[in-house]
Amino acid sequence: MIKVNLEKIKNIAGEKVTLVAVTKNRDVNQLLELYRCGHLIFGENRVQELLSKKSLLPSDIEWHLIGHLQTNKVKSVLPHVSLIHSVDSLKLLKEINKEAAKLNKKINVLLQVFIASEETKFGLSEDELNEIVNSNFSSIFPSINLCGLMGMASNTEDKEKVKNEFKFLNGLFNNIKAKNTFPHFKILSMGMSNDFQDAVQCGSNMIRVGSALFE
Ligand SMILES: *Cc1c(COP(=O)(O)O)cnc(C)c1O
Repeated sequence: MIKVNLEKIKNIAGEKVTLVAVTKNRDVNQLLELYRCGHLIFGENRVQELLSKKSLLPSDIEWHLIGHLQTNKVKSVLPHVSLIHSVDSLKLLKEINKEAAKLNKKINVLLQVFIASEETKFGLSEDELNEIVNSNFSSIFPSINLCGLMGMASNTEDKEKVKNEFKFLNGLFNNIKAKNTFPHFKILSMGMSNDFQDAVQCGSNMIRVGSALFE
């Protein structure tokens, strides 16, 4: 029997926090078990895996793309996702806008900000973020709903460091939100299995949890 820790994680996170069940590398039966428990928001980090799983599962599931997206895959994934967490360059934003316009669709995105001190993680710098949010966004990107920010903290045991990174992102989020220029700007996606409790304490309202769901 497959066991999932859905209720446990939801209880710890609290009802104001949206849980994205990260299902990368999980087989379809594990996803179905989550679905049977009533969960409908699934996150995948690769386009091909998302598309093939989506084709096998019920159509009321909401799919989020959480991993790095290459511009040449934008077109194939757009019709299938309700939120892209991982927009990490201006070039990608432009491509999403262009393909969304062809579909006559508005695409919900989060801008991924680099907050860790590791070289391997993707994301915009604070300057790059500011350049985007201070641009004439709605006329440059008419097919994009800017819904918030996403970030990944350093992979370290040092809780203070992790919390400082989350607080930094929360500060950027609140500053942009306070400007009231983006009507959809409501989501702060931060926190994974190892750090979601700290993330929620630091203002996260959307957590992306994989391994802790299935352990
Ligand atoms: C894998 C992944 C997660 C979930 O990680 P866990 O440690 O398994 O909870 C969250 N966000 C992104 C972007 C991921 O790639």
